Amino acid sequence: MGSKIFGFREVVGSLPVYNAGLSEEAVRRRYGLDEVVKLASNECAFGVSPAVVRCLRDVGANAFRYPDPYCTELRAALALEVGVRQEQLLFGNGSEEIIHFLCVAALSPGERVLTLAPSFGLHEIYPRMMGATVEKVSVTAALEFDIDAWERALARPTRMAMFSVPSNPVGCTLSRADCERLVAAAPADTILVIDEAYREFVAAPQRLDLIGLLSAQSRPWVLLRTFSKAYALGGLRIGYAIVSDGDAAMVLDRVRPPFNVNRVAQLAALAALQDRDHLEYVVASTQRERAWLRENLLALDGRLGCGLRIAPSHGNFLLLGVRQPGAALAQRLLHAGVIVKGWTEAGYEDFVRVSVGSRAQNTRFLEAFDAALDGAPA
Ligand SMILES: *Cc1c(COP(=O)(O)O)cnc(C)c1O
Repeated sequence: MGSKIFGFREVVGSLPVYNAGLSEEAVRRRYGLDEVVKLASNECAFGVSPAVVRCLRDVGANAFRYPDPYCTELRAALALEVGVRQEQLLFGNGSEEIIHFLCVAALSPGERVLTLAPSFGLHEIYPRMMGATVEKVSVTAALEFDIDAWERALARPTRMAMFSVPSNPVGCTLSRADCERLVAAAPADTILVIDEAYREFVAAPQRLDLIGLLSAQSRPWVLLRTFSKAYALGGLRIGYAIVSDGDAAMVLDRVRPPFNVNRVAQLAALAALQDRDHLEYVVASTQRERAWLRENLLALDGRLGCGLRIAPSHGNFLLLGVRQPGAALAQRLLHAGVIVKGWTEAGYEDFVRVSVGSRAQNTRFLEAFDAALDGAPA
């Protein structure tokens, strides 16, 4: 850690490794299990749109051609869908890649970046890669955004504030009034980056209109969205940014590899966008299963009296305070063929995050979780 290797920058050698977790196949092999349930990466448990599957059937014949570097068709459709100008859109090989673009384009060593704790790994790793100083604003004891703390943190010069709403891993969201307070507290030259990877899973009355809210601001802002979660295309890698203005989008475009979004991903995203029925089915199923999982976890806690804390999630996952090291609990679950994410971030080591699965997957998780809690050291 931290030592200089060949000619590489020291800060890069000392960056934390992103925890991408294990695949079902890897766990099956390692533990000699037949059936493994993966609930560790917030993947969609309710299937890919049949329209996507259809549109990919004959994609092979055109594989020799480079993809459209501008995502022209998808850009036009998406601009209409979300109600922004086409030049405000920027596409990435997953929205993760756009976080990378943002940091490369905006951050210099020593600049201050604010993010949330607990945090999505890349909101911290990529700023640190640029030599920026990352400060984290913790959620409250009730696992909600701490607006007072954000106001205090934003009172000092801040190059970028980047966090997810609903947040990953907590799942908390903001009221419109709290969001307005937070935005108003940011210095005029702070780039606000709000990652909306889970926006589709928020029930309509609580879903924020961040485009409307931020468009009223004369500041640089970026909203990040993805096809990886509610649109079920995590394996194809496509996400996008909505940028405050065309000029800012053009700057970001300079650090984008020209063919970063492949043909398959572009086709699939367009088909997924047009299949509204499937999106509704995924969202309704996720909301239903999220509530069911929460109820059953509460019942389990009532029975075991283990003081389980369940964060108020609006995403396709639940963060669970388990009053014991989350990584060890996740390891015990792994032996039972259930993959979840044991949180290891400082201050949040007693949490695990479980993705909302199908009813069968959630049932498997609950059984294994019950047994694994019992196996805890006293
Ligand atoms: C899953 C997730 C993403 C999505 O990343 P992609 O690269 O689009 O798959 C982005 N941000 C957060 C906070 C996430 O949890």
